Amino acid sequence: METTTRVAKGKACIVGGGIAGLATAAYLIREGGLPGRDITVLTRERVTGGALDGSGSAAEGYLIRGGRMFEEHFGCTWDLLSQVPSLREPGKSVTAETLDFNRSVVTGSHSRLVRAGRKLDVSSYGLAPHHLVSLLRLSFSGESSLAGKRIDQWFAPDFFETVFWHLWRSTFAFQPWSSVAEMRRYAIRFMHLLPGFHRLEGILRTYYNQYDSVVVPLETWLRAQGVHFVMEAPVVDIDFDLGDHGKSATAVHYRAAGTPRSIPLAAEDRLFVTLGSMVEGATTGAMDRPARPARELDDGAWALWERIAAKDPAFGRPRVFCGDVDRSKWMSFTVSLTTPAFFEHMERFTGDAAGTGGLMTLTDSSWFMSVVLAHQPHFANQPEDVFVFWGDGLAPDAAGDYVKKPMSACTGAEILAELFSHLGILERMRPLMDRMRCVPCSMPYIDAQFMPRAPGDRPAVVPPGASNFAFIGQYVEVPDDCVFTVEYSVRTAQTAVFSLLGLPREPTPIYRGAHDLHVLLDALGALRR
Ligand SMILES: Cc1cc2nc3c(=O)[nH]c(=O)nc-3n(C[C@H](O)[C@H](O)[C@H](O)COP(=O)(O)OP(=O)(O)OC[C@H]3O[C@@H](n4cnc5c(N)ncnc54)[C@H](O)[C@@H]3O)c2cc1C
Repeated sequence: METTTRVAKGKACIVGGGIAGLATAAYLIREGGLPGRDITVLTRERVTGGALDGSGSAAEGYLIRGGRMFEEHFGCTWDLLSQVPSLREPGKSVTAETLDFNRSVVTGSHSRLVRAGRKLDVSSYGLAPHHLVSLLRLSFSGESSLAGKRIDQWFAPDFFETVFWHLWRSTFAFQPWSSVAEMRRYAIRFMHLLPGFHRLEGILRTYYNQYDSVVVPLETWLRAQGVHFVMEAPVVDIDFDLGDHGKSATAVHYRAAGTPRSIPLAAEDRLFVTLGSMVEGATTGAMDRPARPARELDDGAWALWERIAAKDPAFGRPRVFCGDVDRSKWMSFTVSLTTPAFFEHMERFTGDAAGTGGLMTLTDSSWFMSVVLAHQPHFANQPEDVFVFWGDGLAPDAAGDYVKKPMSACTGAEILAELFSHLGILERMRPLMDRMRCVPCSMPYIDAQFMPRAPGDRPAVVPPGASNFAFIGQYVEVPDDCVFTVEYSVRTAQTAVFSLLGLPREPTPIYRGAHDLHVLLDALGALRR
C-alpha cells in the first residue's frame, strides 16, 4: 500500500476494530500520511473484524456469523483493498485476488427458491401491475416522505407472496417491518443487478471467508505500519467540549483488563468512533446446545452511543435502531462436515457446484431458512476432508415445521434435522450426524440498521461544528448508499478521514445505474418478466 506525505498533525484514536475502524486506519496512513505508530485502535473483542468474522476449527466446528456478498460497484471497498497485499497470493492485492477468483468461480444459481422440496421457477418475479406501480412510486419518492415507514405500510399484502419478495427478503435480509426508505435505496443502488437477481448474477465473493480474506491481510498491513491495537478494551464514555462555536472531543475512557483508563485528546488529535454494531450480543450454541439468549451489554457499542447521544442532539438516536430486539434479531448457523454426502446431494439437487449457487431459500420453511454452499475450503486452515456451509433463519421465533420448536430454542442437531426434513434427506443424513458440527448463532441486532428511521436518527459522519471527531460504521448518514454492506462502512471511513483531515479527495463516487438508460430499461424489463 502506498502512503503519502503527512498532511495532519496529532495522533488518531479509533473506537471499533470492525472494517470501518480498520479502513479508517488505512486511509489515515495512505491518504493522510499519518505514521502508523500515531494511530491507536480500541476494540471490545479479542480479534478485529467485528461482523466480518471467521473462527473455530474443524474439531470444534467453524463459525461465520454471516456470508458476505460483494459486487462490482463496491467502489470504496475495492479502492481500500486494492492496496492491501493478499496473503494467499503474494504480489497481488486483495482486490485483484478477489476479482480473479470471481472470474473462475462465477455465481449463477439454478436453484434459488425451493418449496415442498422442489425448485421453483423464478424466471418471472410474479409482480402484478399494482406492485410495479408501488415500486416505481417508491423510487420516485423523496426519502423524507418515507420517514418512519415500514415496507408493509407501502406494499399491498399480496406483494409478500411474490417471487420477487422471497428473493428480496432472503438476499438482503429485509423483513416486512423493515424501513421502506432503506428498501428504496437498495432498489436504486442495485438496479443493475435486477435482470440477473433471480440467479444472483453479479454477486462477488472473497476466496475464503471475509475474516481470512479481508480482515487478516488488512490488519497484517496495519500492524506492519506500527498501528497500535488494544484488544478487549470497551470504550465506555467520551468527553466533549460542546461550545457554541464548535465541538471537540477531549478524552476517551475505556477499560483494559477491567481497569479504567483514559486517552486525553489534544485539539490536533482526531477521534473516530464506530457507532452501534449489528453483531453485538451475538451468542453461539453447539450440536447439543441452543445459542444462549442475548443480554443487553452495559459496555458495548450501543451503550457508548446512548451515553454520548445524551450529550448532544446532533449525535443521533440509538434507541431507534437497538430498541426493538424482537424486530431486529435473526439467526444463522455454520455447519462443518467430515463427510461429503451433504455437499454431493446439494450439488446434484441444485445443479450448482459449491461456491457458484449462492443462497438457496426454503420458502415454505416457517423459519424462512436459506443455505449457502461456499467454495471450499472456506477457511485458511480448513483440512481437505472438511466441508463448511452456512445458513440462516429470518423468523427464529416461529415453531419449526418438523422439530416443532422455535429455531432460537434449537440445538445445532435440531436445526440440521429441520433442514434435512425440508429437503427430504433426513433418513439419509441421520447416520452421518456424528460427522457434522452445527453451530447456531443468535444475533439480536443483526437487522438494527434496517429499522424504520427518520432524518436525524443517524448522525452525520462529521456532525456540524465537530473539529476533531467523526462517526463511522452502519449507523451514520451517508446519502444514497446502502447499509448492511461492507461498502457503507468503508465509505464512512473515507468520508471521515478525507473530511476531518481536510484532504483534497472526495469519497469514491457511488455508482448510479439509474442514470444509465440501458440499466433502467433492463431493470424495468426484468420486473415485468
Ligand atoms: C450475517 C451477516 C451477513 C452480512 N451480509 C453482508 C453481505 O452480504 N454483504 C455486505 O457487504 N455486508 C454484509 N454484512 C454486513 C457487513 O459485514 C457489515 O456491514 C460490516 O462488516 C460492519 O462493519 P463495522 O466496522 O461498521 O461494524 P462492526 O463490524 O459491527 O464492527 C464494529 C466493531 O467495533 C467494536 N466496538 C463498537 N463500539 C465499541 C466500543 N464502545 N468499545 C470498543 N469496541 C467497540 C464492536 O465490538 C465491533 O467489533 C453482513 C453481516 C452479517 C453479520
